Amino acid sequence: MDRVDSVVIGAGVVGLAVARALALAGHEVVILEAERSFGSGTSSRNSEVIHAGLYYPTGSLKAGLCVTGRDALYAYCHTRGLPHRRCGKLIVATDSSQMDRLAALQAKALANGVTDLVPLDPAAVQAMEPAIRCVAALWSPSTGIIDSHALMLSYLGDVEAAGGAIAYESPLVGGSVTRDGLVLEVGGASPCAILARTVVNAAGLGAQAVARLIRGVPPDSVPGLYLAKGNYYALSGRSPFSRLIYPIPEPGGLGVHVTIDLGGQARFGPDVEWVEQVGYDVDPARAERFYAAVRRYWPDLPDDALVPGYAGIRPKLVGPGTADSDFMIQGPAEHGVPGLVNLYGIESPGLTASLALADRAVASLASVAIPA
Ligand SMILES: Cc1cc2nc3c(=O)[nH]c(=O)nc-3n(C[C@H](O)[C@H](O)[C@H](O)COP(=O)(O)OP(=O)(O)OC[C@H]3O[C@@H](n4cnc5c(N)ncnc54)[C@H](O)[C@@H]3O)c2cc1C
Repeated sequence: MDRVDSVVIGAGVVGLAVARALALAGHEVVILEAERSFGSGTSSRNSEVIHAGLYYPTGSLKAGLCVTGRDALYAYCHTRGLPHRRCGKLIVATDSSQMDRLAALQAKALANGVTDLVPLDPAAVQAMEPAIRCVAALWSPSTGIIDSHALMLSYLGDVEAAGGAIAYESPLVGGSVTRDGLVLEVGGASPCAILARTVVNAAGLGAQAVARLIRGVPPDSVPGLYLAKGNYYALSGRSPFSRLIYPIPEPGGLGVHVTIDLGGQARFGPDVEWVEQVGYDVDPARAERFYAAVRRYWPDLPDDALVPGYAGIRPKLVGPGTADSDFMIQGPAEHGVPGLVNLYGIESPGLTASLALADRAVASLASVAIPA
């Protein structure tokens, strides 16, 4: 059996960031990835927004890691010359009944340490984005966009430069907790068993399944998994926007917003569609809802301008009708298995928070197991 110091399961943006943090801390790291390439899951099916940190409950991991991760991510992009743009975003109230929620968002942002929000009146918004109609807005200058593929490639480059390795088509198919460490059974092209001293489960939508595959992980420590699909529609033709435009958040998501990519192309989404199974087709029948949602803030959206784009799936820990849950970073102190960290519910802002999440995951490996 091969022996490895540290194994990270899953090569999405979070798994790669964790592997990077471990490798830079001097660990020998192997990443096991089920697919043929890195980042083919949620990490390539999102809005690619660097979030400022406005939305999340004050004191939550999401709130803290978003702000810390955002700053770390901008600094990392700057140092590495990675494609990104601090384009800013407008959060718009489209009728006076939303004013209270806009004010509450501003207060929450301040409590979360986001101190640069600027309230704007409709004239100021029109001067910035002439196509937008609203009754009031908040301007967030520290929101941005990033090329997430370039980011992941850079994280992987750091891992490899520090001596780490990635194994593609190598799904975890079983495992057990032993006195010497965790034995991992790897399937795929070259089945094998690995004994690892530390393991970080960053399998995204597969994190619960991975934890259940490892004998010795208490089954009642594994949370539920609920799938909230987010569909996107692309705008055909030229975008009239040069900034991100967000409505007031809706339950389960941030509302159908305008994001632009680094090429200036606009897309709308994601909406919230609760599903039973992972699948990424975008139903053309959802277009009607998108036109209605977007026309609340962009009334001149032309007919036939939206084309089905792509979809991603949020790995929720609670189902519809329940307040959103936080990121769950379960280390030895929580589940009692030395050397194992499970990352559950890493939905938005996981991309923004990736560097901070990685530091937190590595720190929780050091946490002491509480004897039963
Ligand atoms: C619609 C949507 C929009 C979003 N927008 C934003 C945004 O704008 N900004 C932001 O900050 N965040 C955003 N997010 C959140 C962000 O995309 C995620 O938090 C992040 O991509 C999660 O990365 P990950 O590495 O945890 O998971 P993933 O990217 O899903 O990676 C998990 C990896 O594990 C692998 N895997 C699974 N099972 C196994 C196994 N048994 N063995 C080996 N490998 C396995 C998978 O193949 C996959 O590659 C959004 C999410 C969604 C769904």
